[in-house]
Amino acid sequence: MANYAFLGPPGVGKGTLAAEFCNARGMQHVSTGDLLRAEIQAGSELGCRVQEFVSSGGLVPDDIILDLMENFLTGDSDTGYILDGFPRTIEQAERVEAMAETIGFRLVAAILLEASDQIVVDRLTGRRICRGCKATYHLSFGPPQQAGLCDKCSGELYQRGDDQEETVRRRLEVYRNQTAPLIDFYDNLNRIIRIDASSDKATNFAALSEKVP
Ligand SMILES: [Zn+2]
Repeated sequence: MANYAFLGPPGVGKGTLAAEFCNARGMQHVSTGDLLRAEIQAGSELGCRVQEFVSSGGLVPDDIILDLMENFLTGDSDTGYILDGFPRTIEQAERVEAMAETIGFRLVAAILLEASDQIVVDRLTGRRICRGCKATYHLSFGPPQQAGLCDKCSGELYQRGDDQEETVRRRLEVYRNQTAPLIDFYDNLNRIIRIDASSDKATNFAALSEKVP
């Protein structure tokens, strides 16, 4: 079966589109976060090491994430996989390529979701979350009826630190330095599919469904 990786800057809607795409095609969605949580729950030796990094607030090292991926993926899946947020670096991408030899796993293409910096900054900085029930709103695309208050529980709405403009710009910078080189990597292999993700969710999903075989 076909396997794809989703690439794109923070705020481009990668997680949502990947999940929707998986549902539509009956594929399996794999994110590094899910794998890390599953391993911790399984209580394996690797899971214990992962737990130590997570508890101390540190980043889980690349080689552990790669081991997890290689343990989880198989070359003969009936449904195929969508890798969400992975690979993130050239090093990881090279290791994924090597999985063709080790476990028979082949990435058909990297699907690149594209939107301008301004669009993703607007999307992320407009997000608000309810302190009470965790419902999410967007100042432009889904505002609450009363400014600053949750429609469901009248809780106070707040902005996550991650969504503040300065932080968003910094996340974009990290993406550009770390992940954008992957675009050339897959471009050189002739295995990139570019999707315009600058519109609303339904339009973006239609573009995705049309362009991915
Ligand atoms: Zn609420």
